[in-house]
Amino acid sequence: MHEQVVINSIEFARNGETLSGSVAVEDLGRLRDLLFSGEGKLDYTLTGRRGGNGKLFLKCAAKGMLQLKCQRCLDVLPYPVSFESDLELIEGGQEATGAVNEEELTDAVKADPNMDVLALVEEEVLLGLPMAPMHAPEDCKADRNFGQAKLDEQHVFSALAALKTQDHRN
Ligand SMILES: [Zn+2]
Repeated sequence: MHEQVVINSIEFARNGETLSGSVAVEDLGRLRDLLFSGEGKLDYTLTGRRGGNGKLFLKCAAKGMLQLKCQRCLDVLPYPVSFESDLELIEGGQEATGAVNEEELTDAVKADPNMDVLALVEEEVLLGLPMAPMHAPEDCKADRNFGQAKLDEQHVFSALAALKTQDHRN
């Protein structure tokens, strides 16, 4: 288990606080499960901000390199992470209105007096990952096999088509 980093998100945003740190990728369990290896670390910065109408925001930024798994050849695929997301804090009592605040085009996150910072960073990283990461065709080890499988498939289809044509004739 990794060390927990906890903030009172409401106070943090209200006071315009900033928190920076880094976390080993290995320690982010949900993310780690999707990766080729847990090598590397992510640097993150969390910044609180008070917006108009008493709204509170957290800006979550992270940078680092992840070792994703190519979905075609299952080999390592280095993937640079670099993002900044602006999150509106939604008070616990309010009805959760889905993930997106339509007016300001920011995502929302539930205000929490004991917010797990690393879990938040992990969640934001997960949201930004490609669904099916793959090497560029020229870099992918499986590319030749993949092309061959396509050809075989076509072969089967044309064989089936030929059978159907024969049926028609009979
Ligand atoms: Zn690949």
